[in-house]
Amino acid sequence: MSKVLIVAEHLGGQLNPATAKVVAAARAISPEAIDVAVLAADPAAVAAEAARIEGVSRVLAVANPANEHPVAQVYAPQVAKLAEGYSHVFGPSTTFGKDLMPAVAALLGTGQVSDLMSVEGPSRFTRPMYAGNAIVTVEVPADETVVATVRVASWQAAAGGGSAAVENVAVDATLPTHTRYKDLSQAKSDRPDLQSAQRVVSGGRGVGSAENFEIIYKLADRLGAAVGASRAAVDAGYVPNEMQVGQTGKIIAPELYVAVGISGAIQHLTGIKDARTIVAINKDPEAPIFEIADIGLVGDLFKVLPELEAALS
Ligand SMILES: Cc1cc2nc3c(=O)[nH]c(=O)nc-3n(C[C@H](O)[C@H](O)[C@H](O)COP(=O)(O)OP(=O)(O)OC[C@H]3O[C@@H](n4cnc5c(N)ncnc54)[C@H](O)[C@@H]3O)c2cc1C
Repeated sequence: MSKVLIVAEHLGGQLNPATAKVVAAARAISPEAIDVAVLAADPAAVAAEAARIEGVSRVLAVANPANEHPVAQVYAPQVAKLAEGYSHVFGPSTTFGKDLMPAVAALLGTGQVSDLMSVEGPSRFTRPMYAGNAIVTVEVPADETVVATVRVASWQAAAGGGSAAVENVAVDATLPTHTRYKDLSQAKSDRPDLQSAQRVVSGGRGVGSAENFEIIYKLADRLGAAVGASRAAVDAGYVPNEMQVGQTGKIIAPELYVAVGISGAIQHLTGIKDARTIVAINKDPEAPIFEIADIGLVGDLFKVLPELEAALS
């Protein structure tokens, strides 16, 4: 019978919503137990949050001053120790998980399944390839621990309302000294986080300039949405890099995605293919974005957006 260990992602004493999506993926295996490990200097608040995710059996709270910052090389030996007795060790396919899980896999002497999209059995999974143009089925040898990152855009978060037990656990692992935390450079914004927002408004090259992007921010604020951008808009310097959506940017799955002045290149679409409703605003009726949009509006964005905003208010 399977037992899954999930590594919780958290920052500033708050659990990242990606963790509940990883729990959803773990539930698809129908395991005997799903335990969530919270590594932190003081894990109490995050552990309590994790315990409320439905489907979680136990939360393992690992308090250690060395865990104050999420450094993969420091976390990995502890997770590898905790992994004893588990058939699966999962983390989110976020920057955190992509950094940590390969190190865990290496310490366990196994490979890693990346971007797990669906579960076909305890050791059979699907994952995207070629920017989502091909879906491949991967099979892990049944006698090996399955270490995987879960593609968060493919899973609906497990609901709240659980009441798992929280256990304080001491892990006896040798921690490296060659990798140290220096600082975290993070964009500050009052808007919702792009990766986890329910609504996202993105602007492309069609927006024309950094100043013009104000029109995108206005609509986003009216909708309570996060703001994203195409790579062309980022490369042109209209917005910073962390706002890029797509193959080499963020992969997102909001309820509503509004693409403004974006043509719909395959590399952009890769980032939004799991969005529930896609609205496209583009002056070119032949733009490829209209092929995947649920709602398309052909028109000049500088005319359409103020009208939309007025209608919304
Ligand atoms: C390896 C690789 C990785 C890549 N990764 C990414 C990625 O992660 N994300 C990404 O987005 N791209 C990525 N790209 C780039 C991608 O191929 C496209 O070049 C890019 O997405 C185009 O951005 P765009 O749609 O904003 O610009 P364009 O393709 O130039 O489209 C602009 C659109 O705006 C419309 N428009 C212009 N003016 C107006 C107006 N006034 N009103 C309404 N509509 C207007 C035009 O009709 C046009 O459709 C990648 C490319 C490569 C090779």
